[in-house]
This record gives sequence, C-alpha cells and structure tokens, in this order.
Amino acid sequence: MADSLAPFAPDEVVRFAQAIIRQPSVTGQEGELGRFLAGHLEGLGLRVELQEVAPGRYNVLAVLPGDDPLLGLLFHAHMDTVPTGAMPHPLSGEIVDGHIWGRGSVDQKGGLAASVMALEAIARSGHRLKRSLGLAVVVDEESEHRGSMALVRQGLRAQQAVVTEPSGLRLVIGCKGTLPFQIRVRGKAAHGARPWLGVNAIHQAMRVVSALEELEYPECSVPGYGPVRGSLNLGVIQGGRAYNIVPDECLLWFDRRTVPGEEPAAVLGQVQAVLDRLREASPVVESELTVARPDWSWEPIRRRGLQPALTPAEAPIRDLVARHHAAVVGSAAEVYFTDGYNEMDFLINDLGIPTVQYGPGDSSLCHTDEERLSIAQLLDATRVYIGLALEAAG
Ligand SMILES: [Zn+2]
Repeated sequence: MADSLAPFAPDEVVRFAQAIIRQPSVTGQEGELGRFLAGHLEGLGLRVELQEVAPGRYNVLAVLPGDDPLLGLLFHAHMDTVPTGAMPHPLSGEIVDGHIWGRGSVDQKGGLAASVMALEAIARSGHRLKRSLGLAVVVDEESEHRGSMALVRQGLRAQQAVVTEPSGLRLVIGCKGTLPFQIRVRGKAAHGARPWLGVNAIHQAMRVVSALEELEYPECSVPGYGPVRGSLNLGVIQGGRAYNIVPDECLLWFDRRTVPGEEPAAVLGQVQAVLDRLREASPVVESELTVARPDWSWEPIRRRGLQPALTPAEAPIRDLVARHHAAVVGSAAEVYFTDGYNEMDFLINDLGIPTVQYGPGDSSLCHTDEERLSIAQLLDATRVYIGLALEAAG
C-alpha cells in the first residue's frame, strides 16, 4: 500500500544505509554524519535546524511541513555508535547473505536510514500534508544523552513519536530504566605481611557484593505484555595497588535496571539500608554510595538519571504502528517490553509525547562484533514508516 502512495526504490534505501554506516560517528565524533544528514534532508526540501548540544556536536532536526505546523508524528533516531571494538571491517557496509555489515548498522543506522528514506519518499510524492512530520536525529545516546536532553530543554512538541531503535520489527511499548551507582568501600593500608594491622577493602567489598546479591527486585506487570523484573549487575571492580599491600580502597560499579513504578530515591535507599546493616554488624565496613557511571561526568544526567517508560495504554500510536506493520509484513506485530533502555524515556516522561519503539535489526547484535542489519527488515521498516507517517499527517 505504502509503495503505491509514496513509491521508493529499495536499492536507494540500501545504498543510503550503506553510506551512513561508512561514515564513522562514534559518540563525541558525530559532526561529519550530522552535516551529511542535514545536507541530504535540506536537498529534499525539508526545513532543517542544527541544534548545538555541545561544542561541535549537533542534533539534526528536520520538518516536512504540513498545513498545521504541529508535528503529527516525530521519528527519533540517534546518530552516534559505540566504538568499533574488534570488528575486522567496521565501516565496510558490505552486503553478505542479505545483511549490511558494520558498526552502527543495527544500532541504529538502519532505523535512521528507514526514517530518512520514508520522509524522502513522502516528500517526493508531493502529497499535501495536513499535519507536519518531523525527524530528530540526536547525538550522545550511547553515553550521557545530551542530545535528547537538548530536545527536552527546547520543549519539542509532537502528537506522537516512534523511536527507531532496533526492535526486530516488534512493537515496543516500554523500556526499563537504568540507575548506575558506585560504592566506594574504604579499608586501611598495611604491609601485606601483617594484614591484621590493616582493613582489607577488597574483602569488605566482597561482603557488600554478597549482601546485595541477596536482594529481591520488584516485579511489575505491564498491561498487554506481562511481568517484568528489576535487576542488578556488578560491571566493574577497581581495587588494590600491589600484591603486598593491604588495599585501602575498592570501587564497585553497579548497573541497576528498574521497572515502571520504581523511584530512584527508593532504589538507592534499599542499597543504603544494606550498607547501614553491614556497618552495624561490623564497624570496619565503611562505604559511600553515589550515583555514578564510569563514562558520566556531566552533572545534569547524573541528577536526572534514566527512567523506565511506558507508552500510555490508550495512545493511538500503538494501534497505528500495529496496523501498518500487519499490512506490510502480513502478520501481527509482537508486542514487547524491552529490558534495555532507550530514549523513549525523555519523550514520554519529560515531553509528554506518546511514543513506541519500532525499528529494523536484531537488537541482540547491538554493540557486538557481529553487527549486521537485515535488508528485508530495513525495507519493511521503510514501508511501515511511510504508511504510518502518511496516516499521521492526514
Ligand atoms: Zn541505540
């Protein structure tokens, strides 16, 4: 249906995805890709604004104007990728067995390409739109979320939105939050030959870890999906200076995933209560709890944190995506709640825009050395985006 209303050439979609995969855009180095996207979108006749987020780093905001300036639909994508890791040819964009290989192909240049190409097809079709259509391509999603924080500061408005992160074409109606925290456990240094004169901070940290492992995490029932549960992962330990010194400090970095209904203050309170209990039982366990992540130095994100989000149950965007998915793919979309975090948090919780996540690519390949994008899903996503954007624009 979409193909006849706003035709597009599948080869062009694939070539465009390859072109943006070949442009490196590791977090912090998004400039070149941002300028390329801005130029491309301007060339299609869209109104494009570069929003400076940090020195030399810009969000690209594009609008395909309709009679009403309010956005009937906003596509949201991030242009940054994680580092290339050990991928042999991270920027090849090579096609093997129906997949485009490369860092960022799944996370999330596939969804970015599909949304740009959908707007391109609609712009070329010359349809008169009642409502405007928008695309926000942000920087810094993989680290401090400065791009989407800038959208919030600006007060971006839209009737509804689709986060184009990879979902394997599942309809994602919510995501967990993540609350990163650090526990600094203090001890007392001594010569390794006389450990009884010191307090071993690593041993004390092990007691903290065991106590936290005993915690139970709340379960929440997501209507239309099922139960989801919070979790805790100890990701980094730093401690000890030499094998013959009793360590006087040990740092533990945890990633606590939260479900809808959990409040950061309560989550931190639960951890602090464990630390207080250990301290009472053994006064040598001295520890300090702070919200922190090894790659976070920007205060606003430490203060705000990353919250769980749920698409409002009655939001028309759920049905809109589900119907266009069914029309294109020929079967019902699987409704899903993701354990991962995505920036629907900012759109739903801060901007009040009903949002779902729906995008091409197998999310289990994100950040791996096997990252590759299914071309079939890339093309289906483009068709679905065209259909739902045309309907949202009236
Ligand atoms: Zn992503």
